[in-house]
Amino acid sequence: MNIRLFKPSLGKEELEEISDSFDKSWVGLGPKVRKFELEWSKFIGCKASLAVNSATAALHLALAAFRFPEGKKVLVPAITFASTAFAPIYNKLIPVFVDVEPDTISISMDDLEKKYNKDCVAVIPVHFGGHPALIDEIIQFAKIKNLKVIEDCAHSAGSLYKGKSLGNWSDFGCFSFEEKKLMTTGDGGMLCSDNIELIEEIKPARWVGIDKDTWKRADGYTDIESKDAMHWYYEINILGYKYNMNDLCASIGLSQLKKLKKFNLRRSSAIVKYLEGIKDIEGISPLLPYQSERYNYWLFGIRCGNRDNLIVFLKSKGISTGVHYVPLPLMPFFKKFSKNDTPVALNIWKKFITLPLHSDLTGKEIDYIINNLKEYKKC
Ligand SMILES: *Cc1c(COP(=O)(O)O)cnc(C)c1O
Repeated sequence: MNIRLFKPSLGKEELEEISDSFDKSWVGLGPKVRKFELEWSKFIGCKASLAVNSATAALHLALAAFRFPEGKKVLVPAITFASTAFAPIYNKLIPVFVDVEPDTISISMDDLEKKYNKDCVAVIPVHFGGHPALIDEIIQFAKIKNLKVIEDCAHSAGSLYKGKSLGNWSDFGCFSFEEKKLMTTGDGGMLCSDNIELIEEIKPARWVGIDKDTWKRADGYTDIESKDAMHWYYEINILGYKYNMNDLCASIGLSQLKKLKKFNLRRSSAIVKYLEGIKDIEGISPLLPYQSERYNYWLFGIRCGNRDNLIVFLKSKGISTGVHYVPLPLMPFFKKFSKNDTPVALNIWKKFITLPLHSDLTGKEIDYIINNLKEYKKC
């Protein structure tokens, strides 16, 4: 046995879609990217989407859209992937770490109110592991305090919360298609919003500031009927980055999106099986208050004291584990932004162990993992 922690599920459908882009000899930013954006908007139920090369880029551009003055503050949860807290820094803003709820590991409402001050301009909640943050309460708070809200949806794709897609509650939703996430494009990300003007405004920023899509101009170069001598013309009005998605990634994304519902169902049934298996094991509890019939989860984990021993034991049985995440205030880089004032985060993470979860994980593999957890408890 050798059970991977995460594994993308890729098949011939993705290859066929890529092969189509090969046939057209168009593998850069092109029509597939556009098609993927439209499909994504339909899937989320938002008005506009912008495909980029990572969720990190999406978070950077989402904050950039508001052109906040340098030195303002952005509230982020203490337990998340680094990109959530890098986004403010890329924009010359300061991340303020907010403690997390002990059960959901999402941003704490109480601490959000405590950490808020007049310098704060935005908040970036994370739907941790796929479990929804209290996004309705966050939005309400943000309205009163005049904060922009950007949802980090890297762990979530396709979940409804109170009837509305996660990622569509706030000013911007940022999704990740990195290899390990719910669906993949190799690397990739998506920015979505109901504010079409704002999406249009930042669109050039993903393509080195250029205000037209090259693939749309391509026709102008070759159209023999055209009397337009200016087909090459473009303007740069804003600071741009090389953040675009390309047609190869979009090809994979289009196929993966069709399978996402199936992936999510398989993950949900794996979680049901895990929960059933661990419910009588003393000293082990689920990482999150899983409601797999309602929400799609990216992460399955447990909380267990004496974590290192269990990690080594599972490793000896060929079972990969992880820890998601070390609180960012503990990272040397982020120390200067932290005031050691997120006690819940700094305590609870010590028990976190992530177990294998991906859509191709078999029932037999889950049984094997559960049996080894039981075995560990005996010795
Ligand atoms: C993975 C992840 C990101 C970054 O996604 P990329 O597409 O790899 O840039 C951002 N936030 C969270 C919470 C993540 O887990």
